[in-house]
Amino acid sequence: MPDTIFHKILRREIPADIVYEDEHLIAFRDIAPQAPVHVLFVPKRDYATLNDVPEEDAVVIGRLATAAARYAKAQGVAESGYRIVMNCNQDAGQTVFQIHLHLLAGAPLGRFGTPA
Ligand code: 5GP
Repeated sequence: MPDTIFHKILRREIPADIVYEDEHLIAFRDIAPQAPVHVLFVPKRDYATLNDVPEEDAVVIGRLATAAARYAKAQGVAESGYRIVMNCNQDAGQTVFQIHLHLLAGAPLGRFGTPA
């Protein structure tokens, strides 16, 4: 059974600042925010990385993205802009192996994707 810090948050075994939950996903504030708004959207189905999501489960990713957009609108940052990011494996710096979408917003964001 997969067990990451995010599974523990889902099971309420460790605390988190949860901002949204439904039958498919949970969203909570990142513990080390990289922007004024930094929220993680995590599905309740288990996938270690994006590589593990089969085509027939594409809706799982779509729900994360649309939930992030709804949250951005509710927070008043949809028009000013935001970024959604999903890190996959080592070169992207993935540290928690349960897929999650980062929503970053609330200030102009730096560019991205340059090699370290
Ligand atoms: P990744 O690097 O895998 O794309 O993103 C993992 C994110 O989870 C990081 O931004 C990190 O700050 C966040 N994180 C790690 N542990 C915890 C935790 O216990 N609680 C919360 N809320 N966020 C965490």
